[in-house]
Amino acid sequence: MKILVLNCGSSSIKYQFIDTDSRDALAKGMVERIGMSSAVLTHTPLGKEKIKIVGEILDHSIAIEYVIAVLLSKNHGVIKDKKEIDAVGHRVVHGGETFSGSVLITDHVMKALKENIELAPLHNPPNIKGIQAVLEHLPNTPQCGVFDTAFHVKMPAKAYLYGIPYELYKKYKIRRYGFHGTSHRFVSEQAAQLLGKPLEELKIITAHLGNGASIAAVNGGRSVDTSMGFTPLEGLLMGTRCGDMDPSVILYIMGKEGLTLSEANTLMNKHSGLIGLSGESSDMRELEQAVAEGSKKAKNAFDVFTYRIKKYVGSYIAAMGGVDALVFTGGIGENSTEVRKAVCEDMDFLGINLDQEKNLSREELLISSEDSKVKVMRIPTNEELVIALDTEEIVKEQLVAQSVE
Ligand code: AMP
Repeated sequence: MKILVLNCGSSSIKYQFIDTDSRDALAKGMVERIGMSSAVLTHTPLGKEKIKIVGEILDHSIAIEYVIAVLLSKNHGVIKDKKEIDAVGHRVVHGGETFSGSVLITDHVMKALKENIELAPLHNPPNIKGIQAVLEHLPNTPQCGVFDTAFHVKMPAKAYLYGIPYELYKKYKIRRYGFHGTSHRFVSEQAAQLLGKPLEELKIITAHLGNGASIAAVNGGRSVDTSMGFTPLEGLLMGTRCGDMDPSVILYIMGKEGLTLSEANTLMNKHSGLIGLSGESSDMRELEQAVAEGSKKAKNAFDVFTYRIKKYVGSYIAAMGGVDALVFTGGIGENSTEVRKAVCEDMDFLGINLDQEKNLSREELLISSEDSKVKVMRIPTNEELVIALDTEEIVKEQLVAQSVE
């Protein structure tokens, strides 16, 4: 099948057009600055040069129209007819407690997505806009929603409840949801394949380390705990987010600096983390460069980042009663030899032994030493492929159900 995978943000849409048989992205691209007169569409067909189109794209509907047009275009397109788009798969950030798996978008699902807007006020509205735009331009094409939260929804109550009055959980659905679920699911499945063992028999810790970062304990193929919480702010230190912190800190700063709720939110989400601590950069490559040049603040930021990952690894080993594999993914997890080295340092007492040479290699996926009890891996994530494969499966199931009726 050929699936258009969309990740719709408030002013941007990322897309990939994936052939699920070959697993290739036949084209990928992005529309940026939606709502402005100088919006930009960049588009790269498989094996060809990237092209860039600048124009007025005032809303998501027009952006989707452009994406379809460029997929169809004579010189840069990859299809001849809209009908070649078999289905559309959307990344949807928040499925709340409603969705524990990917779903076909129906009126009922749209209603539930709208009910979850309060939980993800920045992310779910553009996801919904994207679905509506596709409905306008491809009214007969099935659409599926694949949720960042779904993989974690069934974690045990002891992992998802916060220590606040239970009524508040019931009233406002305040609990740990966790994010990056498609990535944690994908790399844990890949790890099992690489080990040649059934996922059901494995205890895996997956560390998705990118600009946003989270870590998950995956026991028998199920997420049993994860570091992001009610929002993607909790847990690990991130590029611009503070991660775990005594909640009183923010109340104290608000009092001292006279910050509004919105300013406090911006402080924790945009000016903290690696950029906040280092004052240099939120980007790990730049930060590592600054460390190499002797910046103490950059070194502090790097140390807090890796120390926190190490602490989570230890706690998830305790939570699962052991671990078979530790997987690094995301831009930092896949590429930073320094981060992986620092996280795995002095962990041999837990059976974690990194092979320093393999860690430096760009090709090796299994990077632990031969005798390491815990297998350490770097596995490139592919969230778009997961969305495409889930969408294909749902659409095929629907076709079978229709043929039975
Ligand atoms: P992502 O959000 O998954 O795209 O990851 C982005 C992060 O990955 C940024 O902090 C980048 O600096 C980091 N990154 C990408 N390549 C490398 C590399 N070779 N070494 C260290 N960090 C990297």
